[in-house]
Amino acid sequence: MNSHLKQINAQNNDADDDIDKAATRSRKKLIRRPGTKGGKLPWNSQQNAKTWRHVAQSVFVVINIYICVTFYIWVRFYETGGNSLYLERPAGIEGWLPIAGLMNLKYFLETWNIPPIHAASMLLLVAFLAMGLLLKKAFCSWLCPVGTLSEALGALGKKLFGRHFSPPRWLDIPLRSLKYLLLAFFLYLVVPMPVQAIQGFLMSPYGLIADVKMLNFFRNIGQVTLISVIVLTIGSLFVQNLWCRYLCPYGALIGLFSLFSPFKVRRNPDSCIDCGKCAKACPSRIPVDRLIQVRTVECTACMSCVESCPAKDTLVFSAFRPKGQPGATRSAGLSGMAIALILTLILGGTIGYAKLAGHWDTKLPEQFYQRLIPQSQMLGHP
Ligand code: SF4
Ligand code: SF4
Repeated sequence: MNSHLKQINAQNNDADDDIDKAATRSRKKLIRRPGTKGGKLPWNSQQNAKTWRHVAQSVFVVINIYICVTFYIWVRFYETGGNSLYLERPAGIEGWLPIAGLMNLKYFLETWNIPPIHAASMLLLVAFLAMGLLLKKAFCSWLCPVGTLSEALGALGKKLFGRHFSPPRWLDIPLRSLKYLLLAFFLYLVVPMPVQAIQGFLMSPYGLIADVKMLNFFRNIGQVTLISVIVLTIGSLFVQNLWCRYLCPYGALIGLFSLFSPFKVRRNPDSCIDCGKCAKACPSRIPVDRLIQVRTVECTACMSCVESCPAKDTLVFSAFRPKGQPGATRSAGLSGMAIALILTLILGGTIGYAKLAGHWDTKLPEQFYQRLIPQSQMLGHP
């Protein structure tokens, strides 16, 4: 324990030396961020945005594990003809039905009626898009359990191999476009669908228990899917955020909305000492140290860059540019606590509205579930 602390202290001292050298090179006065050592805040500081993010990620993982386990128990109750434990269907499972959410959104935009089946999937999709509209792709790095798993695999890979591997730029750019191709494919399927066809699909036996079909997909995973999952898992050890960066269509859609986000990472070039720590810390490989504001769709508002900046009020996640010379800087950046609060308000507000308005639970008559769930393996796509 003591040797670990000594190692951290030594690393912080080295980092402080690097920061001093960068400040000397830049010929700018360095006013350090209060409370930092080696440019960083201690993990238990309530100002540390990364700690807030890790707390939000952990809470969301636990919630999702609870949802998945409860849903599985609910499905088993009907599969066993009522001879196993009964738990209420967790409505949060709708968050795992993005295609139904997209279909319902199209239905809603054309009819201005909240769809009768899987309405929560649409409301959750809207909540996640609203997060993108306000806070860049914060959903991806603060809440998404797949993003959390991807990040954890990347961290494990770094421990094992001592570094992350990144494809060269000529390969990285076309690979990044894959997620937009996947998104375009799903939009191509859903957007031209007439409202009657959407209703017909969602009211069909398959659509009514789309959540159970999704569970079956993972329970009876095909060889190709299994190989893909294994390849992605191993690949994520080498390439940071492999799935999110190259393949996730959900993240791609939120990214498009994030282009309109008023909050962005913004840099004050007058107090920046060009140490490059922000760019080095960025998991999305964004050259933060060379930008005045980070507009790109790749920014996930993870705050890693902001948390690694040693200069006070120089790099912030804000709606306005930080200004002023060293010693007289002004900024109004969002803290980690504020981001966590806004995300909670958006999600909590959406769930609260859905519950009050009666759109949260898709509750079919008991006999539907008793009849459909035991034969769900046989139900084909309409
Ligand atoms: S620019 Fe900053 S906030 Fe955005 S992804 Fe990179 S490190 Fe995270
Ligand atoms: S903005 Fe980036 S380059 Fe500038 S001082 Fe902060 S970490 Fe260093």
